[in-house]
Parts: sequence; C-alpha cells; structure tokens
Amino acid sequence: MSDESQFLTFAVVWLALGIGSTLYVRSRPTTPEKRRAHRIMAVGAGVAFGALTTWLFPSSASLMLPVVVVITVLNLRNTRFCDHCGKMVHMRPFERMDFCTRCGAPLPAPWADG
Ligand SMILES: [Zn+2]
Repeated sequence: MSDESQFLTFAVVWLALGIGSTLYVRSRPTTPEKRRAHRIMAVGAGVAFGALTTWLFPSSASLMLPVVVVITVLNLRNTRFCDHCGKMVHMRPFERMDFCTRCGAPLPAPWADG
C-alpha cells in the first residue's frame, strides 16, 4: 500500500469507529449504561488505534503507543455523564467542570460508578 492509501484507510476506519461508538453510547437508555458503554468504547478505541498504527505505520508504533495510552486515560477521565439528564459532557484538559452544560445538575466525580 502507498503512504496515501494507508493514511486514507486509517482515516476512514477511525472516522467510522468514532461515529459508530458515539452513536452507540448515545443510544444507551440509561446513564449507567452510557457510562459503561463509553468506558468499553474508549478502551476499545485505544486498542484499535494502537493496532491500526502498528499495522499501518510500524516504524512509528513505539512512539505512538504511549501517546495512545495517555489519550485513552484522558478520554476516560474527561468524559462525564450527567445523572440528571444523561448528557455526555466532555471536559477540556486541565479544566474543572462540576455542572452539566445542559441542565446544570452537579456532575459525578470523574471515576464515579453507577
Ligand atoms: Zn444534565
């Protein structure tokens, strides 16, 4: 495969995964299910990203893999779900966000279960 088609494959697979997993998480009926689905998707996306990178760009894999781990942890840490309205709230890195952007209810702690 040429570099261009490798990159295109990567972009298409990644976009499809991103859209699919977002729709899947949003379609869960309850907040705890959304939270659980998001965790599975975030870890799955990290693994998929690592596998794709290793497959398509083997020479940069050793550089990319630690980055993938950090991004996955930040993604898990920075995504919260409102217990009140179920909205998925993304926080920017290093910013505290304690209230839902849609309904203003207090958001649960980053690693809260339930
Ligand atoms: Zn809310």
